[in-house]
Amino acid sequence: MKTVRPDGIVVAIDGPSGAGKSTIARLLAERLGYVQVDTGAMYRAAALLLSRAGIDLGNIEAVGRYCHNNMDIRLESNSGSRVVLANGMDVTDQIRSPEMSLLTSRVSSLKPVREALLKSQQNMGRRGGVVLEGRDIGTVVFPDAEMKFYLIASVEERARRRCEELNRKGQPVTLAETITDVIQRDRQDSERDIAPLRQADDAVPIDSSDLSIEDVLEAMTTLSRNKIEAVSARL
Ligand code: C5P
Repeated sequence: MKTVRPDGIVVAIDGPSGAGKSTIARLLAERLGYVQVDTGAMYRAAALLLSRAGIDLGNIEAVGRYCHNNMDIRLESNSGSRVVLANGMDVTDQIRSPEMSLLTSRVSSLKPVREALLKSQQNMGRRGGVVLEGRDIGTVVFPDAEMKFYLIASVEERARRRCEELNRKGQPVTLAETITDVIQRDRQDSERDIAPLRQADDAVPIDSSDLSIEDVLEAMTTLSRNKIEAVSARL
């Protein structure tokens, strides 16, 4: 039987880009009184640091040295808003551009980057009471997560959401460009050798293409609460 974690269960949310993971993870964590861990933001911060440091991504030893000796990535909460700190710098907004998305997808396929972030993600979630979102949470980071979801939506719907989000932030991208980016990122994330995007066998699949955020959230909250009750009943 699995051991019970001191602060609650681990909720894993995986799925392709633009499926609504971040929004849902934030709201679900609020409802459960859990901490949200956006692992994509950590990969984005790693990509930014490596590119600023001018590290050749083809030189795996150099990438490994940098990750091991010079990379400090933290997710913190500052007066209610979530902040991503990369070597002490607030990079929350800079990591969200389409260029950074594609670069991150490339950087996240590198073994030393994944090894470095895997450890800190496991440390953040070890005690439970967390909602972690990403690509490999249910398969690699927490294969023993008590609750796993796999959130998907059609390419068109995901691109439409991402395009709206970027336009709202003042970034003038078109829907056609965003569709191309989403397809490319899906391919890179699911075809890489290490920790590719895939649904864990025991994950609950949810297609959010025709559902409202409220509907998705309601279903996920009910399933998570049932799981929390079932786990506490074992105590
Ligand atoms: O979730 P988000 O779109 O911010 O993630 C950015 C990129 O980080 C993804 O396209 C993927 O390449 C990478 N990522 C990953 N593993 C995770 C989370 C994100 O490889 N657990």
